[in-house]
Amino acid sequence: MNHEFDAIRTLFQQRVPFKQSFTSIANGDDASVHCIPQGMELVISTDAAVAGIHWPLDTPLHIAGARAVHASLSDLAAMGAKPAWIWLSVLAENNDALIAMSHGIVESCLTHHIELAGGDTVRSPNNAINVTVGGLVPKGSAMTRTSAQQGDEVWLLGDLGLSTAGLKQWQSGDINGKFVPHFQTIQPLYPQGITLREMGIQSCLDISDGLLQDANHLCHGSDLGFSIELTNIQSLDSYQQLLPHFGAEESLNMVLAGGEDYALLFTANPSLHNQLEVLGAHKLGHCIKGHHVQLTHDDQVIDYDVKGFDHFA
Ligand code: ADP
Ligand code: MG
Repeated sequence: MNHEFDAIRTLFQQRVPFKQSFTSIANGDDASVHCIPQGMELVISTDAAVAGIHWPLDTPLHIAGARAVHASLSDLAAMGAKPAWIWLSVLAENNDALIAMSHGIVESCLTHHIELAGGDTVRSPNNAINVTVGGLVPKGSAMTRTSAQQGDEVWLLGDLGLSTAGLKQWQSGDINGKFVPHFQTIQPLYPQGITLREMGIQSCLDISDGLLQDANHLCHGSDLGFSIELTNIQSLDSYQQLLPHFGAEESLNMVLAGGEDYALLFTANPSLHNQLEVLGAHKLGHCIKGHHVQLTHDDQVIDYDVKGFDHFA
C-alpha cells in the first residue's frame, strides 16, 4: 500500500464507519459538518503526541495510537463532556508505522463509539499523532478550572504515579513490570467526569503533568489555594501499591509529581462528601486563601519541592 488515499480509506475511514446521528456531512469531504443537539454545547480539545517526547521510541506504535486518543478523551472527562468525534492527524515515518498507529487509534474509536470525523495523513521524519476531540455537554454545565470555591473540599478520582512507575520500569528494561500496563493503557475517565458534572461538581481538571503542578492550575484559575494533607496521599491505593517496589520517597514523588496520570482532580461542596466516597473518590484536602498548593503533614505545613513533567523542557 503506497497510495495516500488507499491508506486513508482502508486504515481509517472504512474501519470506523460509525457516524453520529447529528453529523450532517461525515468524513470524506473537505471538512465535516455537525449539528449541536438542542440544549447542548460543543466541547473541543486538541493534543499532540510525539515519538520520543510522549512515548519512548521503543513503545509499540499501536499503543502510542491508543494513548493519543485516550489522552484526548481525558480532557473531555475533565469538562464532564460526552465524547462524540475525533479529528486525527497522523504523521508517520513509513507504512508500517502508519498501520501500527492506525490499529490503536481505530480500536479506541470503536471501543468508545467515537466518530472519526476527519483527519490528515502525512509522511514525516518523526512519528506523531494529533487528536482533536469534540464532545457534548448540557448548556452551561461544563466543569472548569475557574469554578473552585472557598469552602470546597479537594478530591481525586483515579490513580496517581502508577503510569510514571510503569514508564520507569519499561525504560529500565523491565518490560513485564507490574506497572507497565498503567503506562501503556490510559483509562479515560469520561463516564466518571459525566457523573461528577451531574452531581453538581463545577470545578475539575485532568492530571496530565503531575498532581501538584496541575493542582496549581486549578488554584490560579479559581484565585484560591489548596491545602493537601500528606496522610491522605499516603493512604491512597496508588501510593500503597508503589510503596513496596519503590520505597517511601520515590513513591511519594511519583504520586505527587509523576506525569500522565489522567486522574480527575476536582473540588466539591462538603455536602457531597458521602456521595463522592461511594463513587470511589478520595478527599485530598480543602480550599484555602492564597494562590498555590500547600502540603501539610498532620495539619503542619511542610516544604516539598517537586516539579511536574515539562513536555517542552
Ligand atoms: P484534503 O484534500 O482536504 O487535504 P485529505 O486528502 O487529507 O484531504 O483527506 C481526504 C479525506 O480523508 C478528508 O475527508 C479527511 O478528513 C480524511 N482523512 C485523512 N486522513 C485521515 C485519517 N488519518 N483518519 C481519518 N480521516 C482521514
Ligand atoms: Mg480537500
